[in-house]
Amino acid sequence: MATELIDFPLFVKMQPIGVIHSCFTEKFGIPRQPNMVPSATARLELLPPYNRDEMVRGLEHFSHLWVHFLFHQTLVEGWKPTIRPPWLGGQKRVGIFASRSPHRPNHMGLSAVKLEAIVSEKGLIFLELAGVDFLDQTPVLDIKPYVPYSDRLEAAVCGYAHGMQAEVRITFAAAALEFCTGYQQETGRNVAQLIREMIRHDPRPASQKKNKSRFGMLLWDVNIRWCVEAEGFRVEECTRITAR
Ligand code: SAM
Repeated sequence: MATELIDFPLFVKMQPIGVIHSCFTEKFGIPRQPNMVPSATARLELLPPYNRDEMVRGLEHFSHLWVHFLFHQTLVEGWKPTIRPPWLGGQKRVGIFASRSPHRPNHMGLSAVKLEAIVSEKGLIFLELAGVDFLDQTPVLDIKPYVPYSDRLEAAVCGYAHGMQAEVRITFAAAALEFCTGYQQETGRNVAQLIREMIRHDPRPASQKKNKSRFGMLLWDVNIRWCVEAEGFRVEECTRITAR
């Protein structure tokens, strides 16, 4: 069919149905895909007029969800026709549509994540999620249940995106581990486990692997400093930030 015969609006307006509250307050260290870091949790808050119990009725019977979202933080950077995926060591380019990069036209993301609970409190509705790869404040465009009979494709071939990298050995300085224990007692957040799961897959961009050995990440209000050692990665220091 010739494109001029297709009658649809050139611009589509979308209204977020929700917003993500996640442990990832900055991009560095966020897993490259969902389910790589099971301890990575988020609350998906439904926004009015979609924060109605009836709109999630029956969802509690599903263990996983597809979340369609907006890569809001890359909107200003625009889109790119080709990108260098981390799987290829940052050396080779592939087409944006052969990638899961945020730098795409329309900036739409899609993740299958675990649904742990649906919570209704004080007129607000939250979906408690785990295994997420969303930045804090990510706008959510839609939610759908994950249906294994159709969505799980055993025969799928996935080109250069061959899966998780070999895991790296992680050690903690005594003071860093002590901080994590205290933080968990106070907040209930197992930050040490989260750090382990995040850095064991080596989140360093290919461009920083040769000339940089110290890295920083922010999880909730915890500033984490870790470094590269001969045998793996060492978490050197964890401190709490006072205000952002
Ligand atoms: N699973 C999704 C997909 O395939 O569409 C996202 C994959 S994308 C490679 C994951 C990366 O997107 C994360 O590591 C993080 O750096 C980035 N990211 C996550 N949320 C974002 C947001 N709201 N805006 C911009 N970048 C974001």
